Amino acid sequence: MKPFPQTSPVVVAEPEKRTRSTLRQAAADGEAPEQRPGPASVSNWDHGVTYRPAVIVQPRTIEDVVRVVSDTSTYPSPVRAVGKLHSPAPCSADDGGTMLDMTSMTRILEIGPDFVTAEAGALYIDVAEELARHDRQFHINTEIGTITLGAIACAATKDSSLIGSSHYGQVSSFVSGVKVVKTDGMVCSFTEDEHPEEMRLLRLSYGLLGVVVEVTLKTQPITALFAEHRAYTLAEFRAAVPELIAQNYALMMYFYPFADSVVLEVRREEPDAKPTSSGGWWLRNAFWRKYGPLFVLSIRRISPTAAIERALIRFYDRLMRRGMCLLVGGKLTLPQAQIIRHVDDPGDNKFVFSMWSFEEDGYFDTLEAYFRFCNEYAEQTGFRCNLPAVGYRIVQDRKALLSYTHDSDALSIDPVSTGGPEWEEFLKAFNVFCSDRNGHPLFNQTKHLTAVQVRKSYGKRWEEFARVRAKWDPDDRLLSRYFADLLDDMPIA
Ligand SMILES: Cc1cc2nc3c(=O)[nH]c(=O)nc-3n(C[C@H](O)[C@H](O)[C@H](O)COP(=O)(O)OP(=O)(O)OC[C@H]3O[C@@H](n4cnc5c(N)ncnc54)[C@H](O)[C@@H]3O)c2cc1C
Repeated sequence: MKPFPQTSPVVVAEPEKRTRSTLRQAAADGEAPEQRPGPASVSNWDHGVTYRPAVIVQPRTIEDVVRVVSDTSTYPSPVRAVGKLHSPAPCSADDGGTMLDMTSMTRILEIGPDFVTAEAGALYIDVAEELARHDRQFHINTEIGTITLGAIACAATKDSSLIGSSHYGQVSSFVSGVKVVKTDGMVCSFTEDEHPEEMRLLRLSYGLLGVVVEVTLKTQPITALFAEHRAYTLAEFRAAVPELIAQNYALMMYFYPFADSVVLEVRREEPDAKPTSSGGWWLRNAFWRKYGPLFVLSIRRISPTAAIERALIRFYDRLMRRGMCLLVGGKLTLPQAQIIRHVDDPGDNKFVFSMWSFEEDGYFDTLEAYFRFCNEYAEQTGFRCNLPAVGYRIVQDRKALLSYTHDSDALSIDPVSTGGPEWEEFLKAFNVFCSDRNGHPLFNQTKHLTAVQVRKSYGKRWEEFARVRAKWDPDDRLLSRYFADLLDDMPIA
């Protein structure tokens, strides 16, 4: 392993004058390197988090990344690699440091018999589409497609575990290799076969151990997916789950706490079968891409009173539940049809969410308590989430040190809404509710976390991560304020 030569151009810009897309154009035009430090303001996808990095850089090569990481005087710390900034939590960039926007490194480098290797800025959906042209697919077809492979490798993303076949639900567990620029400027390749311990640390390391520049993911032949939506009351849902798990179904849920209702998405791979239909996934995708938020916001706009708004949302939710059960699914559906290409800027028609996961034993009591919590919170404050919460069943998974299902199979509760100040307050109360019930948050998908909540949830593993991080990054080159606060007081000796 040796340092790369540092010759390629790096595009640096004053962010208040140039957006991410003009940066991309400059990169395409081969613009010479420059640095114009100035106050930056870059928002995440839902505009709920704003970063003010001193410098934004869009590398096009590994050498560009090496140069940025190594040159501490030109590129101030912390250096934070970012993908599409879809994370609702402030885990990506930082104020005052260098934002390393990886979205220009998009090349697919190799499609092998059971793997694909691509640069860290390649989008999951783009790679999935290319794989499909080779009659192959990812093991997990996440609902979100506009995420980068770099984030897939080192931040939490998931879909409900296909327990009879692909098994794991966390996507990083299918990452079999990464190429990383470490803080000393070395470019190192790690693979699951040769470096299982490093891979365990790097998965879910959130850019704190190095900048991921290339990612290798396992793939499989395109396999048809059985999918169906079923409506239950909460009590019926609780009673149905053990049998569904015994039948090897992957479980994803939509929760309606004000209607005592659950819609369950059950899925199962059909090995050796080829897809014959798109499965009506378009309806679910349209809901998340635009129309779910659009309809509830329109209802709010036209409703003269809160009571009428609630009644209309109840009616709309009932229609959606009926529509999903009737239209979304099929015996042999196309797996990639589940992946959504979200627009870069959703404007008002966005949804926001947060999540905590709970060990399977005791989950249903927690879920019932969550339904009560939502109703009581609405009574006290008048606020109710205007979109259904969701939840995912994910199997126990020790492939990453910071896995949130490290010790048990788990199910999550992910409230969803169109946002606003009352939503932010709701999330803080929700965090207390979940932490009191021994939940596990995600560093990229759970907003308003405190150091106490993280320590309670991740305990000894958080201590281990603190020690590893201090060893891999002794000068805190990659450490953002967000993670420094959450790591506060962790012993590293
Ligand atoms: C509309 C929407 C739908 C979503 N749907 C799902 C879903 O179905 N399932 C799910 O699990 N999640 C979902 N999410 C959450 C999302 O998948 C995660 O937050 C994901 O991490 C975002 O990826 P990104 O490319 O935007 O990365 P960012 O948000 O930009 O970064 C995520 C983290 O990874 C680090 N990072 C990124 N690239 C690199 C790199 N090259 N090297 C080192 N560190 C890096 C960043 O520093 C940061 O800590 C959704 C989010 C939105 C907004």
